[in-house]
Amino acid sequence: MTPKNDVLIIGAGPVGLMLANLLGQQGVNVLVVEKNDTLIDYPRAVGIDDEALRAMQTVGLVDEVLPHTIPDQKIYMVNGDRQILSEVNPTTREFGWPRRNGFVQPLVDKVLLDGLKRFPNTSVRFSTEVVDLHQDDDGVVATTERGEKLRARYVVSAEGGASATRTRLNISFDGETRPSHGLVIDVANDPIGTPHAVFGGDPKRSYASIALPHGIRRWEFTLFENEDPALVESDEFIYELLAPHVPDPTKLEFIRRRVYRHHARVAGQFRLGSIFLAGDAAHVMPVVAGQGWNSGIRDAFNLAWKLGAVINGVCGDALLETYEMERMGHVKQMVAVSLGMAKEMTDHDPVKAAERDRIAANRTPEERDAQRRQAFKPQPKFDKGVLVHTPLPSFKTLPARDVPRMAGAIFPQPRAINAEGVEMLLDDATGQGWRVLMWNNNPMAFISAERCAALAHLRARLVQVVPKAQLPWALRHAPAGVTVIGDLGGEASLQAWFDARPVGAVVVRPDHVVAAECLAQELDDVLARVLDVAHFCLPKQ
Ligand SMILES: Cc1cc2nc3c(=O)[nH]c(=O)nc-3n(C[C@H](O)[C@H](O)[C@H](O)COP(=O)(O)OP(=O)(O)OC[C@H]3O[C@@H](n4cnc5c(N)ncnc54)[C@H](O)[C@@H]3O)c2cc1C
Repeated sequence: MTPKNDVLIIGAGPVGLMLANLLGQQGVNVLVVEKNDTLIDYPRAVGIDDEALRAMQTVGLVDEVLPHTIPDQKIYMVNGDRQILSEVNPTTREFGWPRRNGFVQPLVDKVLLDGLKRFPNTSVRFSTEVVDLHQDDDGVVATTERGEKLRARYVVSAEGGASATRTRLNISFDGETRPSHGLVIDVANDPIGTPHAVFGGDPKRSYASIALPHGIRRWEFTLFENEDPALVESDEFIYELLAPHVPDPTKLEFIRRRVYRHHARVAGQFRLGSIFLAGDAAHVMPVVAGQGWNSGIRDAFNLAWKLGAVINGVCGDALLETYEMERMGHVKQMVAVSLGMAKEMTDHDPVKAAERDRIAANRTPEERDAQRRQAFKPQPKFDKGVLVHTPLPSFKTLPARDVPRMAGAIFPQPRAINAEGVEMLLDDATGQGWRVLMWNNNPMAFISAERCAALAHLRARLVQVVPKAQLPWALRHAPAGVTVIGDLGGEASLQAWFDARPVGAVVVRPDHVVAAECLAQELDDVLARVLDVAHFCLPKQ
C-alpha cells in the first residue's frame, strides 16, 4: 500500500488538473492518476469563458493561458442561406475577462499540467488506470490495473463522461444521447482567415466553422443516423463536406478528424461517501454552447476550497455536502440551455428551420441586444449552500429599491489600485481566498476579536475599499492586517456595485461567490452565520 494521499484524482483532464492545482496551492497532498500515457490531444473544447479565465488567474496560470486564446470571439448564427439569425458578441468584463474566447484545449490542459510542477505536494502518474475502489472509515482504497493499492482520504473521479467510477458506484446518469454523431475536423493554416465563429443551422446539414488560435480552423458537422461514422476516414467524403466552405478542400492540412456523440446527461448525485464526481464524469452536454469544459472548471473551483478547508482542519466534513447542493442546479440549467441551442441550430426539419428563421427575423431590437449580450447564458447563482441570506434593510437612509440579492452569485472583478498605487484586477489587489470587503470603512472596527481569530484561521483578508482619491490617507491610517485598495469609479467600479444595493460590507468566498452582504453594523453577526454554514471549526492544536 502506498502512503496515504489527502486526495486522489482519477483522470488528468482539465478538471482533474485544475482541481490538483487549486489543492496544490492550499498545501494539500494530491496524486493524479491518468490511464493514458499522455494528455488527450485530439480536438475538443474551443470556447473558454470569463469565469474559467478568472479561475486561471486564481491559480496563477492566466498569463500562460492567454496566448492560446482569441479574446472576444464573435459568433454568427446563420440559417441555410447564410442569413444572420443572431450575433453573439458580449463585450462587458463583469468578472475581469472577456466573456467569449476561442481557445485550444490541449494547449491549455498542458498549461494546467505544467502548473503542477510548482507544488511539491502534487504528483501525476500517467499509464495508471484505476480499476476498483473500496471505501472504509479511513477513506478510500483505489486499485490500479497493476494491482497496486492507492489510499486516499478523498477521491475525485474526473474521468470524463464514461467514468467507470460513476458506474461502479451505481450512480445514475440521466438524460439522453442522440442517435446521430458529430464529426469534428481541425486544420492548420486556416484556409479562411476570419476571426469569428459561424454556427450554421442549415437544414441540409448543420455545421460550425470556428477560427482558433495559432492559425487553426475547426469545423463540426452533423452526421446523419444513416451515415457510417467510419466516413470520417474517407477523404472523398470530407472533401465533399468541405467543398461549400473553402476554395480548395484538397489542399487542407488536416490536424485531426474525429467523430463524437451528443449527450445531455447529469449524474444522480455528485458525492457518495468520500468519493466525488466532477466535470464530464458528473455531467455532459451538447457542445454547441461550449460549456462542458467550463462547467467542469466550475466544479473544480467549487470543490477545491472545500476539500482544502476540511483537509487543513478548519471546516468540518459536512462542508463537502454543499458541493452537489451548489453545483447541481446550475449544471442542469447549462444542459438545458445547450440542448435548446442544439435543437435550434441542428434540427434538420425544414419546416421547423423556417419557423426558427421567421422568429429570428421578427425579433425586437431589445431581443437582438439580449442575444448579442449572451443573456441566454445563466450565471451561477444558488440559494442553498455556504451563504447567508440577509433581509432587504428598510432604514430611512436607504432609498426603497427592489434590487436582486447577491448571496450565491459571483462577485464582480473590476480593476482597482493596490497599496503601491498600481492598477490591476481586483482579485490580484485584494489577494485570493476568503475576503471581507467594506466600502469606505475599516473592517477591524466592526469585527469582534473572536471573529477576527476565526477569520485568521481561514486566512481571510480584510479589505477596505476607498475611492482612489482617499487611498494615500487610508493607507496611512489602516491598521495592520487590513488591505486597503483604491476604487477607480465609473460604471463597473465597486463604488457603483455598493451604490446599487443597500449594503456596505460583502463576504466573498475563495471561489469568488458572495457568501453574504450586509450593512456595516451587521457584519460581525453575519460573519458568525457564515462561519456556521461553512462548518468552521478551530484547527486541532
Ligand atoms: C467536439 C467537442 C467540442 C467541445 N467544445 C467545447 C467547448 O467549446 N467548450 C467547452 O466548455 N467544452 C467543450 N467540449 C467538452 C469538453 O471537451 C469536456 O467537457 C472536457 O474535456 C471534460 O473534461 P474532464 O476533465 O471532465 O474529462 P476529460 O477531458 O475527458 O478527461 C478525463 C481523463 O480521465 C482519464 N481516465 C478515464 N478513466 C480513467 C481511469 N479509470 N483511471 C485513470 N484515468 C482515467 C481519461 O483518459 C482522460 O484523460 C467539447 C467536447 C467535444 C467532444
